[in-house]
Amino acid sequence: MDELQSEILIIGAGISGIATAWSLAREQGVTDVILVDTRAPLSFTSAHSGENYRNWWPHPAMVAFTERSTEIMEQVARDHDNVLHMTRNGYALATRSRDIEALQAQLQAGYESKPADYIRLHDAPHSPAYQRHPNGDWRTAPDGVDILQNDDLIRAAFPSFSDEVKTVIHLRRCGDISSQQLGQHMLSEFRELGGNRLQGHVRAIDPVGNFRTDVQTAEGKLTIVSPVIVNAAGPFAPHIAGLAGESLPIRNVLQQKIAFEDVRAAIPRSMPFAIDLDAQVLDWNDDERAALGESEEFRWLTEEMAGGIHCRPDGGPHGTWIRLGWAFNRQTTEPAWEPELDDQFPEIVLRAAARLNPSLKAYYGQLPRAMTHYGGYYSMTEENWPLVGPTTIPGLFVVGAMSGFGTMAACAAGELCAKWIIGAELPSYAHALSLDRYGDSSLMQSLKDADRGIL
Ligand SMILES: Cc1cc2nc3c(=O)[nH]c(=O)nc-3n(C[C@H](O)[C@H](O)[C@H](O)COP(=O)(O)OP(=O)(O)OC[C@H]3O[C@@H](n4cnc5c(N)ncnc54)[C@H](O)[C@@H]3O)c2cc1C
Repeated sequence: MDELQSEILIIGAGISGIATAWSLAREQGVTDVILVDTRAPLSFTSAHSGENYRNWWPHPAMVAFTERSTEIMEQVARDHDNVLHMTRNGYALATRSRDIEALQAQLQAGYESKPADYIRLHDAPHSPAYQRHPNGDWRTAPDGVDILQNDDLIRAAFPSFSDEVKTVIHLRRCGDISSQQLGQHMLSEFRELGGNRLQGHVRAIDPVGNFRTDVQTAEGKLTIVSPVIVNAAGPFAPHIAGLAGESLPIRNVLQQKIAFEDVRAAIPRSMPFAIDLDAQVLDWNDDERAALGESEEFRWLTEEMAGGIHCRPDGGPHGTWIRLGWAFNRQTTEPAWEPELDDQFPEIVLRAAARLNPSLKAYYGQLPRAMTHYGGYYSMTEENWPLVGPTTIPGLFVVGAMSGFGTMAACAAGELCAKWIIGAELPSYAHALSLDRYGDSSLMQSLKDADRGIL
């Protein structure tokens, strides 16, 4: 069997593994790195991202982590003519309630280190201080949070929203990117700096002494000998950890999205990524409801479901497509290379999204045939925080559990993992985002009771 030597082997060329390889090569000058993946780079979970980014989390550690990632993405955009297509229209969180005390407490907690005017309330029909900023340019978009609590102001700013909406929380340092463009850019730089990529499937890891990793490639088997391994295998991270004799507290939950051409112009192109926060019972007519109610398999579709339905225009002001998503599934599942999607999902998410944007009702039962329905796993810890850093096996690192935030957080996660590996000075959030946090009982207790930030 052929043998290769390398200082570092990274298993997984999704956005997390690529960002780690890029940071090692670019920031730390470490290029004796092999990045191995069974498939083409960025073709598993990383191909199915909604590609949204935000700096809002109910906890300052996650705010600092995602803001660091945004900073790195901004630097890439600045240096490379916005190769990652970064835009910044914000996130608009909508609710039918005026009583938003709990949400405000979360905003205060997450943004505790921000200036006093970071969160701004607008409760008059006209508010010159509220900038809608519809052109999406990340360089000139405002920062902070605008809370809208006036019906006229909300109608003027969000004309497609239902009249029932009483509060909109417009988070500003948020938007979307092309994760494929970002990933390809980082991969090219890694290769140009001397890093190596290999297509092959990791079958076994012998952790005694230097790691000996058996890889099946199209040409045959080979062994890679390395003192360091980074487990960036996404949903298969627990499996890779198991090969090396360790277990990780990561589980997988399938989540889905749809995209289609908005031929009826139901959604204004300037609408930010909009999220309906409220729980709801899906909008079926009486016959549909009765039929679903009779079926043991589908009765749940007539019961109240959690909020968090997404809708956003795709492709900028001149595009015509929209994306809808809803991470309502909570069931843990074994990951599969070809995840099985639920045929009901497109109609479910459409009906749910039509509650906030009633113009979407025009598509009930007649979604365009060219609709794309896709999905992948939220690979997550119970508390929905990532795992980045050393494991209990010396030399084995992990960058995983990136849940529904792996695209936006990849750059900071890669940087953090690279720093752990070479022993550089760590940022403030490093220990909280590593396995170390399970030894911090007060942090774990506070996370148990907190909102998990799943949007
Ligand atoms: C529906 C959906 C919507 C999402 N929307 C957003 C969003 O809007 N914003 C956001 O920030 N994030 C979003 N995410 C999350 C984001 O897509 C993921 O967190 C991120 O892509 C995870 O990247 P990864 O590199 O950790 O994993 P992956 O992309 O899964 O990469 C892991 C790689 O490891 C490889 N691998 C596994 N086992 C082996 C082996 N034995 N040998 C060799 N290679 C192996 C796989 O082939 C794969 O390429 C979304 C996710 C889903 C599913």
